[in-house]
Amino acid sequence: MSKTYYPTIGLEIHAELKTETKMFCNSKNDPDEDQPNVNICPVCMAHPGTLPVINKKAVEYVIKVGLAIGGKIANFTEFDRKNYFYPDIPKGYQISQYKYPIVSGGELNGVKVTRIHLEEDTANSKHDRGDYSLVDFNRAGVPLMELVTEPVINSAEEAGAFARELQLLLRYLGVSDANMEKGQMRVEANISISENPEKFGTKVEVKNLNSFKAAESAIKYELVRMENLMETGRGDEIVQETRGWDENKGETFSQRKKESSHDYRYFPDPDLPKLKLSEVFNIDEMRTKLPELPWQKREILKQCEISNEAIEIFVENTMLGEYFENVIKPFGSDMTKIKLASNYITSDIMSHLKNSPDVSLPQPTNITELINMIIDGKISSRGAKDILEYMHGHDDHPMKIAEEKGLIQQSDESAIKSIVEKVMSENETVVAEYKGG
Ligand code: ADP
Ligand code: MG
Repeated sequence: MSKTYYPTIGLEIHAELKTETKMFCNSKNDPDEDQPNVNICPVCMAHPGTLPVINKKAVEYVIKVGLAIGGKIANFTEFDRKNYFYPDIPKGYQISQYKYPIVSGGELNGVKVTRIHLEEDTANSKHDRGDYSLVDFNRAGVPLMELVTEPVINSAEEAGAFARELQLLLRYLGVSDANMEKGQMRVEANISISENPEKFGTKVEVKNLNSFKAAESAIKYELVRMENLMETGRGDEIVQETRGWDENKGETFSQRKKESSHDYRYFPDPDLPKLKLSEVFNIDEMRTKLPELPWQKREILKQCEISNEAIEIFVENTMLGEYFENVIKPFGSDMTKIKLASNYITSDIMSHLKNSPDVSLPQPTNITELINMIIDGKISSRGAKDILEYMHGHDDHPMKIAEEKGLIQQSDESAIKSIVEKVMSENETVVAEYKGG
């Protein structure tokens, strides 16, 4: 019989901040620049004699994230040099933060956060040329925040949910686009298993996870790999190392044995001033000025008594969420109408949006009217679908469309009665035949 193993996961997530300029110089921070080595300058190219200058906006962005998750904003913070000898950082060291991160503590999606610090991104290397490599320095020195969680996550799903919530938060705060496919957000997962819930096992760190799916699959794979080793008496083959994720094979593979922090030879960067954040920022004011956060939006939407799926759609797709809010505004607390609006928006309207993203959505007021017409029995739900279909690209009052298309449904009893009586009096013989059996 196989034993019970307790999985432990801690995440390290990097996100490129959406500032105008780079972390320590005035070069443009443009993730969409295709031409290599245009957004560079002597500072981010590490020419001798140049000096870095801290990008205030980047520090502000990290403070915002820290405040949103209820973390402690450091009073004293500084930047350190981290020894790093690869061509994608021309200085030979990366400016990062070691002992005094900007943010300590906090919690997101039920997961305790250890710290958030600020560092600089590396350049992009291309190793596909055979006997030489190319380096594009446009990304070198782009502000990068790193968030580290406590080792308190217990499943791949929980890790994925955390990363998704962080992406949402960064977008709500407007500090990063956090697009994983574009490498704007990068997840590293530290994974271990143990037979003893009181004791951690040896961890491995899996890198190059560039989608939520990849992160979840890699964690699942790694947990199974470790269990199999433990089950077959080869637990000592689990060693502290960095592993990569092979998307095609769906497997992790050993990359290098883990270096420890003394290999990095951290020391405070003498070229940069130490910061007393409370002297530069009004932290309390920043806290009160935070925009609406994903979980706050979720709470508001919960009051609409719509499905959880719909809530998540509106929280993630803020454009659609706002659209929904505009449609239901005139409904007050009429839950029937609100639910109907949610159903139409998350089904018909969303699929139109997917199929023809260039066609703009109908005016929210027209959807409001359409819902009113359905509830008042003026049109059938079948008719509503036809009208909705037509409204995409022909945005018009649904009443007008219904009249033009002959979709008005008569449900006024006295009106129907008079029509019935008229038909009967015009067809007396049929009525007589019917009555006569
Ligand atoms: P390192 O010094 O190797 O970088 P840290 O203690 O700084 O290790 O932790 C780095 C990340 O690894 C954090 O996200 C932390 O939660 C996670 N971690 C630490 N120990 C474990 C473990 N035994 N299993 C899984 N994750 C762990
Ligand atoms: Mg680490």
